[in-house]
Amino acid sequence: MTQLVAAPAIRAWEDADRMVGVDEAREAILAAFAPLPAITLPILDALGMVLAEEVVAGVAIPPFPNSAMDGFAVRAIDTIGASFETPIRLRVIGEAPAGYAPRVSVGPGTAVRIMTGAPVPEGADAVVRFEETDEVERPGEHNGHVADAVGIRWAAKPGDNVRPASEDVAAGDVVLRGGAHLRPAEIGMLAALGRTHVLVHRRPRVAILATGDEVVDPGDPLGPGQIRNSNSSTVAALVRRCGGEPVLLGVARDTTAALRAKLREAQRADVVITTGGVSTGDYDLVKHVLRMEGAVALWQVRIKPGKPLAFGRIGGVPLLGLPGNPVAAAVAFEQFGRPAIRRLLGHRALGIPTVPARLLDRVENRGGRRHFVRVRVEPDELGGYTARVVGAQGAGVLTSLLLGNALLVVPEDVSVAEPGMVLPAQMLDWDLG
Ligand code: AMP
Ligand code: MG
Repeated sequence: MTQLVAAPAIRAWEDADRMVGVDEAREAILAAFAPLPAITLPILDALGMVLAEEVVAGVAIPPFPNSAMDGFAVRAIDTIGASFETPIRLRVIGEAPAGYAPRVSVGPGTAVRIMTGAPVPEGADAVVRFEETDEVERPGEHNGHVADAVGIRWAAKPGDNVRPASEDVAAGDVVLRGGAHLRPAEIGMLAALGRTHVLVHRRPRVAILATGDEVVDPGDPLGPGQIRNSNSSTVAALVRRCGGEPVLLGVARDTTAALRAKLREAQRADVVITTGGVSTGDYDLVKHVLRMEGAVALWQVRIKPGKPLAFGRIGGVPLLGLPGNPVAAAVAFEQFGRPAIRRLLGHRALGIPTVPARLLDRVENRGGRRHFVRVRVEPDELGGYTARVVGAQGAGVLTSLLLGNALLVVPEDVSVAEPGMVLPAQMLDWDLG
């Protein structure tokens, strides 16, 4: 079950008509969430998750000095004065392939043929690339056997083309700290340190419940006056994309009993997300049941699209009640659900990556709400971004979400955003193609 660090600052039901700001609502919601307990996972399964331990290097990377090039391991002192015109001949005493301990050491006047990644033999302090020797003029000659001597055409300095031990990481270094976001780079580093498993905050189980007599899951027969439940799938996909594990509870009919039964099913989850039933319609029983079953408050948030939002607890489980209109549900999820899930996962950066974008259209925003406008953001020729309004902006128009890749944020106090205005664009997708 989710650890509740602080009781959310829930407004009393009686305050339902009071409007709250987007930031105020978000802060009140986030106060109810803390990172979930840690579990051990195979490193690849931890991609995208958040580290719950400190990773200290038990070994150095690289563990031994090795060659950065294919060439000859030499003593730099033996190559003083070497040039293309005046090569210095060194006796070749052996080969150093990658993956084996060198069997020879380099003494005065000698060289060892060495491959990239092979340990640099004792005595050698530099590697001269094949291209800077006369070997290039004798292609094929070294296939299968090593020439007795090589002409060095390069005055090497100590350290040339040698990757020293610990160049990357020294044994004992703190390589990753708790809270680190595990990207492919971190996964590779864990492997480089020999780790097979890693401790991360576990993913939240997010129960998703649609409500409404008119709403029917895809695959079930559709009666007159009924529509498909798209919200559950949209929200489940958004949950999964931000790292949560969606658990679909289907649709609750607009009856007290149906809703109660479904909410009981949700008790094993870390969060419950409902859609619909929190506006002011006659059959929106959800809000009444939520009030009876737990400590849930209903807010009117200064947000567009969508305004009604429920938040609180059912049993011990935090519940977020999104509006029923599909676009409003998606926008509200991004503003309130996503940061909550990211906090459960242990992320510190909770906000949606945001860029300034120059508006190409005119957007009205009467009513003093923060307007999240569906836009398509594209790079412009000046090195910045433009935002074009896409599709009808109705709270139920899903096609506008198909066309857009970002939400342009028009502040509460801007009643008309004119073309040319630069506003923050929340990038839902970085696919700018
Ligand atoms: P409500 O908030 O329950 O009054 O719903 C607002 C609008 O959203 C109504 O037009 C509903 O039919 C629609 N709606 C509610 N739930 C869903 C859903 N799960 N999928 C698609 N549309 C929905
Ligand atoms: Mg409804």
